[in-house]
Amino acid sequence: MSFEKLGLSEELLRSVSEAAYTRPTPIQALAIPAILKGKDVMAAAQTGTGKTAGFTLPLLQLLNKKSPVKNNRARALVLTPTRELAAQVQECVSTYGKYMNLRSTVVFGGVKINPQMMKLRRGVDVLVATPGRLLDLFQQRAINFNDIEVLILDEADRMLDMGFIHDIRKIMALLPKQRQTLMFSATFSQEIRKLAKGIINDPVEIDVAPRNSAVETISQIIHPVDKSRKADLLSYLIIREKWYQVLVFSRTKHGADKLVKRLSRDNINAAAIHGNKSQVQRTKALANFKNNKIQILVATDIAARGIDIDHLSHVVNFDLPNVPEDYIHRIGRTGRAGASGQAISLVSADEAKQLHDIERLIKHKLGREEIESFEPKHNLPGSLSRKYSRNKRIIKTAKNKTKRYKAKHNNSSEQKSHNRYGKLNTSANSAHGGRQIRPASTTIPVI
Ligand code: AMP
Repeated sequence: MSFEKLGLSEELLRSVSEAAYTRPTPIQALAIPAILKGKDVMAAAQTGTGKTAGFTLPLLQLLNKKSPVKNNRARALVLTPTRELAAQVQECVSTYGKYMNLRSTVVFGGVKINPQMMKLRRGVDVLVATPGRLLDLFQQRAINFNDIEVLILDEADRMLDMGFIHDIRKIMALLPKQRQTLMFSATFSQEIRKLAKGIINDPVEIDVAPRNSAVETISQIIHPVDKSRKADLLSYLIIREKWYQVLVFSRTKHGADKLVKRLSRDNINAAAIHGNKSQVQRTKALANFKNNKIQILVATDIAARGIDIDHLSHVVNFDLPNVPEDYIHRIGRTGRAGASGQAISLVSADEAKQLHDIERLIKHKLGREEIESFEPKHNLPGSLSRKYSRNKRIIKTAKNKTKRYKAKHNNSSEQKSHNRYGKLNTSANSAHGGRQIRPASTTIPVI
């Protein structure tokens, strides 16, 4: 399959070849033709598989055909849950659309609203936005939604969950009913599917990978460790393994800041990116990380959705996320576009529930490896009980074998006794004086 066969225009084929994409990814091969036909699409694709181009390329082609945009209006609206993701999608729109005469802009909170109002004044073909700032701009009459032809919800599962659903409902009520709607997401829970039904109309459903699974090229491992020793272990691994560019996830903002301080004590160059940092600080930290000026970037989940770094080889979960789907999003920052990656989780005993939820979601147990000198004093319940139950099974099997052997042995000798002595022989009066004999075939487990 080639991009030419998907029916993309010359301008888009040119920018795709400049981006060095040789052939469409599976999600692109399926989504592009459906979107070009004007269908609503609900696409579940693993993160890092090229879904942004999957909707941006056909979107630009559709918009290129029609009349120019009016002042303070937009023709396509892309909603994303995070500022970083919004910025990244906008970057894709301008990269892929560079040979087209289309205008696009991005709006999100945390920065001044006035320059955004100015940009909207002449109207834009593609508006990429986070929900809160978009509503602010609407209230200030900087944007009118009457001409929206295409709505795209990127990371739709996050867009429709509790944090955003209120704003999304408000925005939906303002959009024209007659429109094309596209929902792209790495994960789609059953609740999200139900909610989506009211937003999307008879969609083409595309599912290029087993739902809620992570890319196969990502190897995943858990290091059980006590909570109090996590930072030491991380520092040790960074130094020992000579990790160069590592994205570390922390559940809390405070935890992220604390970890950066701790790492810098070992001369590890780290920065944090989270909701309490100004947008300028967030953008700078991300840019420095991408340019290799910062070795370690510690992020909260807010940043998980927007970070696309070429050849990021390691993602570390300093702590596990409370929402299991976030695990997939986090580790999906590595292993992008077919590259290999490693996801390492430092898991303490108090995170057994989160781990259980993640393993249930991804439908397999994660491999565990204790690091010498960092073995936990408080055992991670899952691994411990598994180890025990496995040993219990071995013991049981061994006992059963012994029993069977004994039964056979005793029965046959009893049989002989009966035959020979005409009465039942017991162990007390048997030839070996009641001593237990260990059958040669039985292995005694070492616990
Ligand atoms: P996404 O899943 O949209 O975040 O994309 C992940 C990465 O894949 C980005 O760095 C894209 O530049 C890259 N990418 C997208 N489409 C292709 C393609 N057809 N071939 C190679 N790389 C691609």
